[in-house]
Amino acid sequence: MELCELTAHELGKMLRNKEITVPQIVESVYKSIELKDNDIKAYISLQKEEALKEAAEMQKRFDAGEDLPPLAGIPITIKDNICTKGIKTTCASKMLQDFVPPYDATVIEKLKAQGAIIVGKSNLDEFAMGGSTENSAFMKTRNPHNLECVPGGSSGGSAASVAANETILALGSDTGGSIRQPASLCGVVGLKPTYGTVSRFGLVAFASSLDQIGPITKDVEDAAILFNAICGHDEHDATSVSMEHPDYTKALEKGISGLKIGLPKEFFGEGINSEVKEIVLKKVEELKAKGATVEEFSIPSIDYALSIYYILASAEASSNLSRYDGVKYGYRTESADGLNELYEKTRSEGFGPEVKRRIMLGTYVLSSGYYDAYYKKALKARTLIRQEFDKAFTKYDVIIGPTSPTTAFKIGEKSENPLEMYLSDVCTVPVNIAGIPAISVPIGTDSKNLPVGMQIIGKAFDEMTILKVAYNV
Ligand code: GLN
Repeated sequence: MELCELTAHELGKMLRNKEITVPQIVESVYKSIELKDNDIKAYISLQKEEALKEAAEMQKRFDAGEDLPPLAGIPITIKDNICTKGIKTTCASKMLQDFVPPYDATVIEKLKAQGAIIVGKSNLDEFAMGGSTENSAFMKTRNPHNLECVPGGSSGGSAASVAANETILALGSDTGGSIRQPASLCGVVGLKPTYGTVSRFGLVAFASSLDQIGPITKDVEDAAILFNAICGHDEHDATSVSMEHPDYTKALEKGISGLKIGLPKEFFGEGINSEVKEIVLKKVEELKAKGATVEEFSIPSIDYALSIYYILASAEASSNLSRYDGVKYGYRTESADGLNELYEKTRSEGFGPEVKRRIMLGTYVLSSGYYDAYYKKALKARTLIRQEFDKAFTKYDVIIGPTSPTTAFKIGEKSENPLEMYLSDVCTVPVNIAGIPAISVPIGTDSKNLPVGMQIIGKAFDEMTILKVAYNV
């Protein structure tokens, strides 16, 4: 077995037992990248030289007998919409293809403080808008389980790199499912934390009221370890919550007897592939056999979740992306006659078609004539969804369903039809709208041998419970 195939907690133990060294781990990861990434294309950029240097330094500290944090010497891949000081952060957009941030995102500072080693920056849908990573301006990432299929998105590069053992851990961002859906399609674990638990400072904004950074890992234990490392209040993010965080690895106990599971019928209805449904329900039966109680119920407003999401997310995106004007930073058109033409040409040339679609949709729903009819109504409906989840959590400890209505689809299958692509977010967007946490765990494969993921949703700030259930799956 190669070191790159192991988890962070396994490698951590081996490092402390002096069975292996940090440079051996890092070299194993880059060997795997050199072998596979020509096909998979998970990475936009790599940090090999720097990573090997850091590995040697970290090993010295292990050799000196220092008591180091859990992520010391562990390689990690970062989605390329999270700012890394001195390392290009492109958002997979022509607009930012040469952007080198002068500062680190708070999560990066935290990882560095732990001694984690950045392997490289991973591919995504441009500005995290998409569900297949086909919207990257640079290349399409492929699913390690079948190279003809998409890895999901928008954190497709992060999920594929973890699934292909081209890294040990990864960070993604999730606005409407972009951590959980690619994790599901690639057969790995993805955790979307409660809104406000992880700082968004340095995450390039897509839809600020929905965006969260979170772990993509090989197992649940690694997700808990990585979440421990990145959570916490940050004065640079006004929406970050000041609270005491437990040690999330304490959630990793066997046994779920007495657990109350709710199954919303909306997650098992029309549009959800029957094989996916079957595999999820079989897993739920297993949880029942382990002592959980299971009840079907209904969250009627979930039927509006996709419409709410695409109105709110596009509205916020149109505002957030107004900063790319060719003046302050990022791409600028070659030549323009006056300021208006500079804006027009820069934005026409710099953004891809999906980003333009969202900006137009967002500008439309925020315009004075339509604000009340769309944006304001979507905000009201958002409150409804929140209330229905709150009510559900008075009865259930967790809510379970599929992460994605289908397993990985073929490259090109949905890219011509944006509405069909949006439908693949149907199970994940309600969670972002409500601001609550959810985890996707791999639970098997379909008849085409493609991974199926199950989504476990918890109440706000109750990552402990969803991690515990995930650990028992
Ligand atoms: N697929 C969804 C979208 O296209 C979610 C994206 C995300 O979570 N960043 O908006």
